[in-house]
Amino acid sequence: MRIEEDIKLDFKDVLIRPKRSTLTSRSEVDISREFVFRHSRRKYHGIPIIGANMDTVGTFEMAGALVPQGLAVALHKHYKESDLEAFFGQRSADATIFYSMGITAADYDKFRRVADAVGDAIEYVCVDVANGYTKSFVDFLGKLRAAYPRITLMAGNVVTGEMTEELILDGVDIVKVGIGPGSVCTTRKMTGVGYPQLSAIIECADAAHGLGGLICADGGCTSPGDLAKAFGGGADFIMLGGMLAGHDESAGEVVEHEGGRKVRFYGMSSRTAMDRYAGGVANYRASEGKEVLVDYRGPVEGTLQDILGGVRSACTYVGARRLKELSKRTTFIRVTQQLNEVFGRS
Ligand code: 5GP
Repeated sequence: MRIEEDIKLDFKDVLIRPKRSTLTSRSEVDISREFVFRHSRRKYHGIPIIGANMDTVGTFEMAGALVPQGLAVALHKHYKESDLEAFFGQRSADATIFYSMGITAADYDKFRRVADAVGDAIEYVCVDVANGYTKSFVDFLGKLRAAYPRITLMAGNVVTGEMTEELILDGVDIVKVGIGPGSVCTTRKMTGVGYPQLSAIIECADAAHGLGGLICADGGCTSPGDLAKAFGGGADFIMLGGMLAGHDESAGEVVEHEGGRKVRFYGMSSRTAMDRYAGGVANYRASEGKEVLVDYRGPVEGTLQDILGGVRSACTYVGARRLKELSKRTTFIRVTQQLNEVFGRS
C-alpha cells in the first residue's frame, strides 16, 4: 500500500484567475479549434464539445442540433445496424460524428458491417469501456487500428499519464479521460476507484501533448464554468452527458413529477440501461450508474448558447482571443468556496 500526498483537484477546488486583456467583447473570441490527428492524419475544425455516447444524449436528433453549430456527437452504441447505415449513409464526411462501440467481438463485427455499408462516411470512432486499463482493451485497439488506419480514434477511459501515453502509442488519436466523475456514475461509490477530474485532465493532457496526441475530458462538468476549467487545464475536447440531458433531442422519457415535467436520465451501466440492453444486471457484477429525473428543458439550443457564452466569457476574462490560448493563459487558484448560495444553488 502507498499513499500519494500531493493534492489532486476537482473543478470545485479551483477558480480561474482573471488577467489583463485587450479584448473588448466576447464576440471577438473564437472558440473553435483546429487539429491534425496523430494517427489518422485527418484535419479537424470545430467547437470541441461532444455529446456523450449515452442513449439519452448521443442521439441522431442531438447530432442534428449540435453538428450544424460546429459541435460533435458520439452516437450511443445501441442503435440498430440498419439505422446507423441509413444515418451515416446520408452524412457529409466533415461532420464530427463518432460511431461508438465496446470491445466485444459482436461490437467489432457490427462496426465492420456498418463501415462496409457506408464506405468512408464513418470518420470518427469512439471505443468506450469503463476501465481502460485492461489488456483486452489495448489488444482490441491494436486490431482496430491495424484494420482501419484512416479512422480518427477516440478511446478510454483512463485517468493517468502513463496509460494515456500507452494508448496514444497504440494508435489512439484522442484519449478519453475520466473515471467516476459523471453525473449518473456510481463507480466511486461502488468500487472506491477514481481520480479528481481536473487533475486527471491536467496530467493526461500533459502526457498526450508530449506525444502529439489529444485528450477528451469526459464527465463531471456541471456548468459552463467547469468547461472553462477543463479547457484551461488542457482538455482538447470535452464530452457532456448530464448538461445535455432533458432536452427535446435527448430521447429520454418525459414524465410528470410533483407538478413539473421531468425526463428520465440514467447511466449506461445503471440497472435501467442493463435491463434495457443486456437483459438485466449479470449476477457477477453490480450496477455502476444510477437513474435520475432531470428537469425538462425544451430544445437544446438555449442550453448550448449558455455553454458557449460561458466559455467565450472565460476566454475574455483571461485575454484569450482563441480557445487554443485559454490553457496557456490559465492560472488556477485553489479555493474553499465557489458560489454565494445565500439565495439558493442555481
Ligand atoms: P456527465 O457529463 O453526465 O457528468 O458525464 C458523462 C459521462 O459519464 C459519460 O460520457 C460516461 O463516461 C460516464 N457514464 C455514463 N453512464 C455511466 C454509468 O452508468 N457509470 C459510469 N461509471 N459512468 C457513466
